[in-house]
Formats: sequence, C-alpha cells, structure tokens
Amino acid sequence: MMAMGKTTPAFDRLVEQLAKLPGIGKRSAERIAFYILKQPVEDAMELTRAIDDMKKNVLHCTQCFNLSESDLCPICSDHARDQGLIMVIEQPSDAMTLETTGMYRGVYHVLMGAIAPLDDVGPGELNIHALLTRVKSGSVHEVILATNPTLEGDGTALYLSQELDKTGVKISRLARGMPTGSQLEMLSKAVLADAIEGRQQMG
Ligand code: ZN
Repeated sequence: MMAMGKTTPAFDRLVEQLAKLPGIGKRSAERIAFYILKQPVEDAMELTRAIDDMKKNVLHCTQCFNLSESDLCPICSDHARDQGLIMVIEQPSDAMTLETTGMYRGVYHVLMGAIAPLDDVGPGELNIHALLTRVKSGSVHEVILATNPTLEGDGTALYLSQELDKTGVKISRLARGMPTGSQLEMLSKAVLADAIEGRQQMG
C-alpha cells in the first residue's frame, strides 16, 4: 500500500491493530501510532509488556466472571462476605464502582453485557445460565439485579426476574434513585449506596 507514500508496512500494521479498539477510528489510531513512534523505546515496550502480562494473567473468576488472577476472585474467596447474596451486574467495572461505596458485603455475578436484541445479544450470549445454576445450588438467599437503568439493563432485569422467579429466591432491584438511562459507573457513591440500601423486592 504505497498510496499515502508516507507510512511503512510496520507503521500501517500497528494502525490497523489500534483501529480495532473500541472508540478508536483510523485517525485516532494514526495519532496514537505516531505518539508511540516518538516515545522512548523503553516506554513503548512497557505498553507491550502490560498487554502481554494482562493477557497471560487476568482471567475471569469461574464463579462470578469478574476479573481475577486466580480460579476464584478475591471477593468469591472471601468468607467474611455473604456468599448467599448475589449482585448481578453487567460489567466487571460495575463491581469496582460498587466496591467504592464500601457498603456491599455480598458477592457478584457479571453478565458481561445486557440483552440487546438490536445488537444480536440474546440471553445465550451472557452468563445467565451460570447464574441460574448458581442460584439453584441452594445456598443463595437473595439476588439483587443491578443492571444499568437503561432500556437494555431494565429489559435484562425483567428477563432475569422471570427466570429467577421459578427458583423461589428473593429478587430485588436497585432502588430508583438512579437516573434512567445512566450507567452505574457514572453514579456517585452516595447515590449508589442509597440504591443498594433502598433496593426493592421484585419476586
Ligand atoms: Zn468471583
């Protein structure tokens, strides 16, 4: 590809990889590539080592699907936490956000998304089967549905409440102090803490 006449195959290869990242278009990818090109070798290598290290060491917890560097994440292996209280969230980042409130003492279940028919994401694409299996194991006394208060998040919560209803477990949804359309990670600690405390029973 000599069309531009000012890049090289190696440069183009990096741009192509960067442009695959979410939210990064071709132009941003080129800007980042030029930035890396100007960086000292050691700094640029630190980036490749960080990616390498993360891919080798960060897994998903086999129980809750949160990020973990071992089979069970630190929260699932913490016996001081209520292992029978499960907060269902969309992304690992939601757990990090909720942990900052310091007032949740249960465990999590990360769906890795929300049901979104328009984007071809159905229940089968999410960690829903694993959640039902976990609840049916019998040691769970409450499931808090903490999906985002968006169209997809609410739809997912409704679907889950119908599925979980059959198991007889207590089901609650985070309180409605959260503005509709917002993402958990954008909310303040105080709003989140109120939402947890004021959760409403669904089933
Ligand atoms: Zn876990």
